[in-house]
Amino acid sequence: MALLEIRDVTVRYGGHVALREVTLGVEAGRVTGLIGPNGAGKTTLFNVLTGLLTPGAGRVLLDGEDVTRLAPYRRARRGMARTFQILELFGQLTALENVALATRLRRRTAAGERPDPGALLERVGLSAFADRRADTLPTGLGRRLELARALAVRPRVLLLDEPASGQDPDETAAFADLLGELADEGLAILLVEHDMTLVMRVCAHLYVLDFGTLMAEGDPASVRADPRVREAYLGTS
Ligand code: ATP
Repeated sequence: MALLEIRDVTVRYGGHVALREVTLGVEAGRVTGLIGPNGAGKTTLFNVLTGLLTPGAGRVLLDGEDVTRLAPYRRARRGMARTFQILELFGQLTALENVALATRLRRRTAAGERPDPGALLERVGLSAFADRRADTLPTGLGRRLELARALAVRPRVLLLDEPASGQDPDETAAFADLLGELADEGLAILLVEHDMTLVMRVCAHLYVLDFGTLMAEGDPASVRADPRVREAYLGTS
């Protein structure tokens, strides 16, 4: 069963339908990808999942429970963490302080010790930058810091909004390996991403949105071979 699901979700902005009866699930233990051309509705879907937007129709389920009308911070307490398309770090704090702050926000029900901020930085390969102010980090490293911060709340579901943007190919490859490890440890990960190298490398399951409608889903190889996807998204047929 999917840990996080949306069922028959429709979102309208005035007369414009941004999502039309979309159903998808994010399972524990794998990376699920969401791709689609600009304007396809990916950000809208992300906002529905995190609670920034309430859909006009349809439901959001977290661990089988209806959270459609639950505020974002309450979803976070239940184990959802996210990163942002535009970095949202505390610029004047150091990398370590950014993570330390986040460990205080972890869900109340989480068992065990508070995670060690230094260990989290090490996990994402940022130990050498612990004392650097966050606003002096290049974007690629900032994305890793965001990931460490998201992990600091010990989430069950991790939602990543275009984490490859600003990362060079080597950084992206290392990031993909890290996501694979996290999924192997049981995390449910949703990756919204334009970088097809990252998507193809790390996703076990893919959804393709086009004009607000789910046009394809499946494993990456079958999605890539789908003629409709090639035409709509990859620009070839
Ligand atoms: P991108 O890859 O460019 O981020 P996206 O797939 O995330 O695109 P959305 O941002 O979800 O797409 O937008 C879906 C559609 O809804 C687009 O046609 C967009 O112009 C429209 N839209 C998004 N937000 C609003 C809004 N607040 N009011 C009106 N229309 C909107």
